[in-house]
Amino acid sequence: MKKIYILGVLLTAILSTHSQSFETDIETLISEVSIDSLLSNVRILSGEDSVYINGEKTLIEHRVAGWGNSLAEDYLAERLEACGMQAVRQNYSSGATNVFGTLQGSVYPEQYYMICAHYDAVTYYAADDNASGCATVLEAARLLSEESFPYSVIFAFWDEEEIGLFGSSYYANYADNFGINIDAVINIDMIAWDGNNDGLIEIHTKPVNQSVSLANFMQNINETYAVGLMPSIKNPGTTASDHSPFWNHNYSAILLIEGYYSNDFNPYYHTTGDRINHFNISYFHKSAQLAIGSLASLAMANITGTEQFETTTNNTITNYPNPFRCQTTIDINLSENSEVSIVIIDQLGRKVSDVYNGKLAKGTHQIQPDIYLENGYYHMIMQTSDERLTRKIAVVK
Ligand SMILES: [Zn+2]
Repeated sequence: MKKIYILGVLLTAILSTHSQSFETDIETLISEVSIDSLLSNVRILSGEDSVYINGEKTLIEHRVAGWGNSLAEDYLAERLEACGMQAVRQNYSSGATNVFGTLQGSVYPEQYYMICAHYDAVTYYAADDNASGCATVLEAARLLSEESFPYSVIFAFWDEEEIGLFGSSYYANYADNFGINIDAVINIDMIAWDGNNDGLIEIHTKPVNQSVSLANFMQNINETYAVGLMPSIKNPGTTASDHSPFWNHNYSAILLIEGYYSNDFNPYYHTTGDRINHFNISYFHKSAQLAIGSLASLAMANITGTEQFETTTNNTITNYPNPFRCQTTIDINLSENSEVSIVIIDQLGRKVSDVYNGKLAKGTHQIQPDIYLENGYYHMIMQTSDERLTRKIAVVK
């Protein structure tokens, strides 16, 4: 019963992604990213505005790990709880604590997407580095927790990034040890400085697992939803932020950051001048929209790797190579003669290719479809009279 139920839900998920409303849902969510909410959280986290924490009005004077930053930790935990999530405090060494919450997926609760940012700082204020990232993760939590997604989503805040990526390293190691299936990690670190107002934002990646495809995926989100930024992919990107420990454990991960390699980096970096009054507000807003739109698109439909879903018959569909560049061979095995239709749909649920339509006899078959697909992730769907099988495929050029 359980398997049939899962297939039923999957079918519903795929069908719902097949309509136009899917795109509209993401578009709506992107439009709901609130600059007021983002700025309010930056002001609170960078000690410009006081706020109620643990029932008392207080000011987060700083977030420096070595000076004790548990007030910021408490605030972040309270915000996650306010979104209906349990806030986990991962106290991994004396006084050092990661904070994270999980939004459970409705179909694949054991498969996760992650958005994360470090909350520690080197000195007072630290608005761009990295209250900007934390505010984006909080905004993602606020918006996504109002919806239901097939995949689980983790919203995480790391401690001690500034003194050696300690918090994220601890977590990545823990996730690896416990076999936590994180399909993609989006790390946000400094996304509010754009001195020349050209909208350039960097996406740092590296050929680790699906990290390069993930960067391309984010770049496409900017196009598809006309976010209005100029994403520049850096490959190989820097290892100087919290995505890097995930690379070390072979997770797909990217960093979203202002012009770090492009000569448009916050000149107040690591000084008490890093305050909200230097933000390029429209740029910050769009950067948060890009991050949150990407996360929601992943959690809604996607796709990393090459999964074969469980089935109620012995029918199978696989392809190799996968990921592929141009050509792939599809192997089909049918337990009885069937009418078969095979289509490929993209991240937004749009059909991009008809691979096969017709009768096939019991047994194994090979198809070498003549298809051209852009870089990215897709679902290949095989429908027979009594079931629907889905396989994730990836095209990497
Ligand atoms: Zn930082």
